[in-house]
Amino acid sequence: MGSKGYIVGEGYEMPRPKFQPVQWSKQVWNNWCIPKHQFVGWLIARQALQLKEKLFALGITADDTCILCGSDSETAVHLFQKCRYSSKIMDLLAQMGGFVLPQGDLLNWLGQMQGSALRKGILLCLVQAIYCQIWIQRNKARIEGCILRPEIAFKLVIREVQLWVRSKIQPCIDIRDREWLVRFHMIM
Ligand SMILES: [Zn+2]
Repeated sequence: MGSKGYIVGEGYEMPRPKFQPVQWSKQVWNNWCIPKHQFVGWLIARQALQLKEKLFALGITADDTCILCGSDSETAVHLFQKCRYSSKIMDLLAQMGGFVLPQGDLLNWLGQMQGSALRKGILLCLVQAIYCQIWIQRNKARIEGCILRPEIAFKLVIREVQLWVRSKIQPCIDIRDREWLVRFHMIM
């Protein structure tokens, strides 16, 4: 609501939290991230994904319910951060890494986390790979009517990031980075 009076679009957007586009844009282009995942990350940052929330508002779909959990509107924040399916994959990542995920903004947490550039970069790479996998499974659900279990989707993510990291990692790395990488089975 502003001096020009109530605008329907404003009222619709107000209660819906969004990704912080500027912050996420910086994180998307980290050198450790996999290029094809960066493209999905860039679409998220630009709020350019054809989410059901948007399609419903345009009258293209009959409902805006998340197809992965069926319990809420398919917004970017829901699909990538709050959805039960996505949360399960993120929990598996946290278990493997031995850390606790924040209750609030994941992107803010990633931006402020302590640790070397290597650890931050690979964590960003993993999060982007998960976002990409969530988007793949969401589209699979819409087109094929089935999805992979979160455990299997997470294994695909880890496998892909392992191969990528092993192709980029230098032989001489800090001992703390080495120990951190072992947790994710990135190196032996
Ligand atoms: Zn959901």
